[in-house]
Amino acid sequence: MSAWKRPDDWDVETSLRPRTLDEYIGQDKVKEHMELFITAAKQRGESLDHVLLYGPPGLGKTSLAHIIAAEMGVGIHTTSGPAIERQGDLVAILTSMQAKDVLFIDEIHRLSRSVEEVLYPAMEDAAVDIVIGKGPGARSVRIDLPPFTLVGATTRAGMLTSPLRDRFGVISRLELYEVKHLEAIVKRAAKILQVRIEEDGAREIAKRSRGTPRVANRLLKRVRDYAQVRADNRISHEVAREALGLFEIDENGLDHLDRRILHTVQRVFGGGPVGVESLAAAIGEEANTIEDVYEPFLLQLGLLQRTARGRCLTSLGYSYLGIVPPEHMGGEDS
Ligand code: ADP
Repeated sequence: MSAWKRPDDWDVETSLRPRTLDEYIGQDKVKEHMELFITAAKQRGESLDHVLLYGPPGLGKTSLAHIIAAEMGVGIHTTSGPAIERQGDLVAILTSMQAKDVLFIDEIHRLSRSVEEVLYPAMEDAAVDIVIGKGPGARSVRIDLPPFTLVGATTRAGMLTSPLRDRFGVISRLELYEVKHLEAIVKRAAKILQVRIEEDGAREIAKRSRGTPRVANRLLKRVRDYAQVRADNRISHEVAREALGLFEIDENGLDHLDRRILHTVQRVFGGGPVGVESLAAAIGEEANTIEDVYEPFLLQLGLLQRTARGRCLTSLGYSYLGIVPPEHMGGEDS
């Protein structure tokens, strides 16, 4: 009998990744656009134009990049902004690609300026300029590249320099997912993981997944553990509720840190406005994590508001904390 091996989370994440546009659930508008552009490029026998995908982490940017390559029938090379340290690193990648291949650069807003400069002629003219020699004898040589498609992913399009942003032919924003789509994602993942799950069990997990497929899959895995040890290995509505309660994920999908953010804005900063750096320092978290991971969902729920002067708790945010909002915020007499 072979030993049973528990796959680690990386294996699981890879196995759960949708492989085709059909398997990619939700984001209907982005999908429709991509399908159109891919079909048109294939009909012309050309490479797809460069694509920029932006939106909070875990929404399916990496998955979509792989799908684009698969649907185009080309290879994909993946890297990330911080991983490309020198111009030569990027030139080496670009010159090793086959015609029409996809180059996926995650966290593209973190490319250094000098590396970014290599991308401009590469994206526009399919060429790179390299400098040979040093000092007065140095000369620049242009090397042609095979046509390729750059797919860039970023959590914040606003952090891209405009020369880089302008060179993308397609710019798509991924939105937080609706519950019905997350429910379908949970059911699909349960099938792959061979977990028995009831319809309303899947819906309960979906409702608490903060609009994010990666969170949905993570919660499913934790609820699966709970069902295995404390229930009859089946995720019913009741089991999902009990498990998520135990893990302190509330009805809206807020976790411990979300609540801490709201409490801190209220108690330490009098409801705001507070800058993200001060908030991060008070909580002991990275400002980037707050901005990319936590804030989008708190804003979407309307618990927090972003103003020019900083983050403020909304009257809904006060109610969530069980506190009466200050009068100027639209209490009874306003
Ligand atoms: P990002 O690159 O935006 O951080 P990923 O593409 O890595 O997000 O997605 C995280 C996980 O969420 C994937 O492994 C996949 O299982 C799941 N996922 C994301 N988008 C979808 C989708 N549209 N349909 C099904 N599963 C998805």
